[in-house]
Formats: sequence, C-alpha cells, structure tokens
Amino acid sequence: MIIPQPSEETPITIVGVGPVGIFLTYQLSRLNVPCLLAEQSLRTTKWPKMNLTNARVMEMLRVLGIADECRDIEGSVGEDVDDQPSRNSGDYLSHAEEGDNVATTFVDKDGQPHTVRSRYLIGCDGGSSRLSKAAGIKMIGGQMRDRIYLVHFRSHELAEKLAFGRSWPIFPIHSGFIIDQDDKDTFTAHYPVSKLPSGTRIDPHQVVYRTLDGEVKIDELLVHSEWTPYFSIAEKYYIDSLKVLLVGDAAHRSPPPGGRARDRTPAGEEIRAQIKQFIDNSGPDTIDLGIELDLRYYEHSPLIYHDGSGKHQWDVQRYISSTRPGCRAPHVFLKDGETSTYDLFGKGPEWTLINFINGNNPDQEETRKRGFYDCLQGHEIPSETGLRP
Ligand SMILES: Cc1cc2nc3c(=O)[nH]c(=O)nc-3n(C[C@H](O)[C@H](O)[C@H](O)COP(=O)(O)OP(=O)(O)OC[C@H]3O[C@@H](n4cnc5c(N)ncnc54)[C@H](O)[C@@H]3O)c2cc1C
Repeated sequence: MIIPQPSEETPITIVGVGPVGIFLTYQLSRLNVPCLLAEQSLRTTKWPKMNLTNARVMEMLRVLGIADECRDIEGSVGEDVDDQPSRNSGDYLSHAEEGDNVATTFVDKDGQPHTVRSRYLIGCDGGSSRLSKAAGIKMIGGQMRDRIYLVHFRSHELAEKLAFGRSWPIFPIHSGFIIDQDDKDTFTAHYPVSKLPSGTRIDPHQVVYRTLDGEVKIDELLVHSEWTPYFSIAEKYYIDSLKVLLVGDAAHRSPPPGGRARDRTPAGEEIRAQIKQFIDNSGPDTIDLGIELDLRYYEHSPLIYHDGSGKHQWDVQRYISSTRPGCRAPHVFLKDGETSTYDLFGKGPEWTLINFINGNNPDQEETRKRGFYDCLQGHEIPSETGLRP
C-alpha cells in the first residue's frame, strides 16, 4: 500500500483499499498510470463477507491474469486471511478543488495531517463513503427494513447430513439462508435479527439452529457479526468538473435478498420505487446497478464510437451477446478449449482488434485506410467453431 507523505503529488488519488480500490489500482498499474492508494485501517478485515464472485467479475479477473489464483482461494474465512497490520494509515478527511487539481487531506495514525495533490480523486471508501458526502453527492434509497446476523462455522455433521447433496446456497422455507463456503465443512448462516428473541444477547449457535430449523453439532464458531442490507445509488458518480469520482459501494449498494426480491414492506417498496424512477430517468452511465453482462454503454459515453447502430435485443431471461460498440465483447473458448477470446485482449494500454468475420471485411478496410490498423494488436479467428450458431 502507498501511504500519503506530506505535500505529495500524484496523477490519481484513490481512497479505500477494499476490493474495488485494489482492483482499480492494479488495473492502473498495468496501464503504467501512477496512483496513490490510501486506507484508514491498519489491518485487513477479520470479517470478510464474500459468498460469490459473479461471472463478469471472473472475466475481469481473467483479463487481469489472476482468475486462477482467486479460484484457488477456499471460502471466505480461513487461515489465509492476512491479519498483519500495515505500517501507516491514511484516513481521508477532506478535499478541495485547486485549479486543475484536487487537494486531498488525510490524517495518519498519529493524527498528523497530510495533503496530496492530484488530477483526479477516486472514492472507493465503501457504503459509508465520507468522500461522497464531502463531494455533496446525494444517495437515493437507503437502509432496508431488517438487520441480518451472520455466523461462519464449521460442522462435519451438517456436511454429512445434507439430504439433497451439496449446493452452494440453501434457502430454507421458513427464513434465512446458508452458504456452503468450501464444499467441505465450512458454512455461513444468515438470519434476520427481527426473528431472534429480543432483549437478550444474540447466541450464534441459536442463529445456526434457527436457520436450519434444527440442531447440528457445531465444531467451531469462526466469526459472527451483524450486517444491514442497503439498496441505494448515488445520484451521479462524479462531480461536474470530473475531478472527483465514486466507484464501488461508495456509488451503489444492492443486496440481492433485501433489495430486489424479498423486502415487500411499504418501506422496502418505497425505496425500490424511488430507485426505479431515478434509473428510468438516468443515462447508461448510471444504470449499471444490478446489470452484470447486458449493459450497453453508448449514448452518454465519450469513449465509444457511435456507429448509428440501433438498440440490441434485450431479454430479461437470457443474455444475448452483441458486437455493437459499447456492448460487452462476446466471449467464446477457441478450438483448443482453453483459450478464451478475452485472453487475446492486450494486457496493457494497447488496443486489440478481434476479427470474427470470414473473407473481406469492409469495416477492416475502413480501419486500415484510417491508419488505425497498425497500432492495433490484431487477431483473426474467422474459422473458429462456436462463434456462430
Ligand atoms: C453480508 C454481506 C455479504 C456480501 N457478499 C457478497 C458476495 O458474495 N459477493 C460480492 O460480490 N459482494 C458481496 N457483498 C458486497 C461486497 O462486500 C461489497 O460490494 C464490496 O466490499 C464493496 O467494495 P468496495 O471496495 O467498494 O468497498 P469496501 O469493501 O467497503 O471497502 C472500502 C474501504 O475503504 C476504507 N475506507 C472507508 N472510509 C475511509 C476513509 N475515510 N479513509 C480511508 N479509507 C477509508 C475502508 O476501511 C475499506 O477498506 C456482501 C456484503 C455483505 C454486507
């Protein structure tokens, strides 16, 4: 981690070393863009909450070359959780625009202020983002009705007793859910706090028994804590000068069980209605909430070539791949069964052209004429099976 030093200058300052801050820093380093990453906490978390990594994130990890490494990590809690304190911390305090730059002030663990000047300031400081508040960016939506208690535990008995075999999530009909963390004996139970006896200290064993609707032998309680589902989205992801941007939970939060399907209370409905109205009135740079594969960045993006193509087909049940500008690049494994089209993409700042078409391609000729072709890394794969029905 890079720690702010007094009066430092850097092109980009990133606040927050959660998954999003780390991901962004790694990506910038591949593009040879220096940045400064600041984190308030001296330790890594003892309470990781990851249950699943969705398909789009796995694709991005593959492009970064770390998908296999991530796949090899078992479960979300274990001995490999690094609990070593870092040398120093950078707690974001405030920022101010200064001409073309932003001056950001942090305090270190001794309470000493440090100011860093940069062209951009990026808030990856999570759901309680201090940076988004300081930037005056309003959040739409908010906290869902219930709090949830989670318990990570080990139980050989539960592993052996699963009547229908192993499955990653188990949703009992009464309430709560269980996540199978490692296909061995580590599980996580999530249960609504409102359904636990009130007025007494929460017993994590009882949380497990209530979620399972019966007792099992718990070999070890690993960690337990309470969490609150939020369903919210920032009214915009940047300030007008584009010098301050929000990413990750600082910009949007949507827990699937609380936000989308289950909370049918008036408060839950009101939050859903507010967000739906906001999304309906927004541009595509804001509507990626919950849409993992099928979003097209187009009308409002300054990066995408506008070729005049119409809307691509969209089906709520089915992902339909498309090569229209702004869509997620289509994916197939090539003939060897191992190489993904995503492996052909450049690993740095270069541009890649993948030609899926047999014979003369007029667009390619046009590209050649306009002089772009020479600076592209080209891959011609017209004879690959699996590209067309
Ligand atoms: C119970 C639960 C289960 C979940 N399960 C999944 C799952 O299975 N899959 C999934 O994809 N997501 C899951 N999530 C959501 C996921 O945890 C978040 O979306 C993700 O952590 C957001 O990453 P982030 O980097 O934006 O923010 P965070 O992970 O919140 O990281 C923010 C970082 O910023 C730091 N920070 C905060 N304020 C400051 C400051 N003032 N100065 C400096 N640093 C600061 C914090 O210390 C922290 O390190 C789950 C969430 C919960 C609560």
